[in-house]
Amino acid sequence: MLTCAPIYHTEPYVRSIHATVVSIESWKGKDALTLDRTIFYPEGGGQPGDRGTLGELRVLDTQTDEEGKILHILDQSNTLVPGAEVALVLDWEHRYDYMQQHSAQHLLSGTLHRMLGVGTVSVHLGAEDMSIEVDVESIDEHDLMRVEDEVNRIVTLSVAVTSRTVSQEASKEIGLRRPVKVDGDVRLISIGDYDTIACGGVHVSHTGELRYVQYVRSERIRGHLRTFWIAGDRSVSSIRRNKSIVDASGTLLSAPAEHIVESIRHMQQQLGDARYLQQKASVRIASLLLERELSGTTIPLALFDASGWDEESFRSLPESLLSIDAIVLCVVRPREDGKLSWMVALKGIGGEAELFKAIRQEALPAIEGKGGGKPPLWQGVGSDSSGKETFLSSVGAIFDRVVHD
Ligand SMILES: [Zn+2]
Repeated sequence: MLTCAPIYHTEPYVRSIHATVVSIESWKGKDALTLDRTIFYPEGGGQPGDRGTLGELRVLDTQTDEEGKILHILDQSNTLVPGAEVALVLDWEHRYDYMQQHSAQHLLSGTLHRMLGVGTVSVHLGAEDMSIEVDVESIDEHDLMRVEDEVNRIVTLSVAVTSRTVSQEASKEIGLRRPVKVDGDVRLISIGDYDTIACGGVHVSHTGELRYVQYVRSERIRGHLRTFWIAGDRSVSSIRRNKSIVDASGTLLSAPAEHIVESIRHMQQQLGDARYLQQKASVRIASLLLERELSGTTIPLALFDASGWDEESFRSLPESLLSIDAIVLCVVRPREDGKLSWMVALKGIGGEAELFKAIRQEALPAIEGKGGGKPPLWQGVGSDSSGKETFLSSVGAIFDRVVHD
């Protein structure tokens, strides 16, 4: 069997070549091809597998199988035969994006180590950002900014990123910041004198291609800090996107960028004030509705079914009672679950607790009412709404009896 020459290592900027189909394989139910040489990088070291086309066929992903064969995974059925010559074309935007993120990760991990003595535990190159998990619980925000500055200083110098292969023994003498995980010869990637590490990934040729490396955020995980970053074209796109968000917000708020936060705070304050006013209005509405229900007796008596009331006004009833000196109030309101809310207020008549005791014993059973309270207000829920008329009239009868006694 022919071994596949990894052109992506020697010539990472080659976007298209011709190769010969060696074998037809399968990968998780999909057809996959092996070739005599390839520019498609197979997933590894946190860097995703390449995408692109093989002739007319689309390559979804590139993986390495257990035998070390590089599989070009197709998104449709294979139509090629072994021995066929085929044109390989990379999805260059995807590949170059990850070359930038991955190379920036080297530079960041190296700089975190050199400036702060912080080691890298694991890395992940995501579609949105890249993360570097470090071997400490926290890093001062100020230090992260120093690392960002130093990395971008090296970006500005456009330092060469080079690779070389050395023996296992030679790699040990160099004193790499991370131990080598492969047997045999070791591929080393150096960023000038700033960082050297063993890596099988694909990198940019100069740090200038990283354009602008920016710190995004951090989170704690398993007692470690995970720091998130973006670099390259992705970083520039993010700056442009953020600028358009700021511009649109500024237009909506009629405020310059530096006043946006203050404007939002002011709006929140206004919203809070509006809610407060709305609440006051509900209490006022409850008072007016209640006034309409009161009878002309010396101690105002209100016994009614508040079915027509909105919930806000019903809930505001206790507050509207504060301004009333004397009242006997008994009100029910059907709930959405078919039960009944009830409320009894006894105020300014003397012996309120005794009077409520009578209501509890004689009237509440009509609606199977449960609940409680203390003078001047008792409230609860009744589970039998069919008894609401009986309940209201019983309270009226108890009140008549007490007043006439
Ligand atoms: Zn690498």
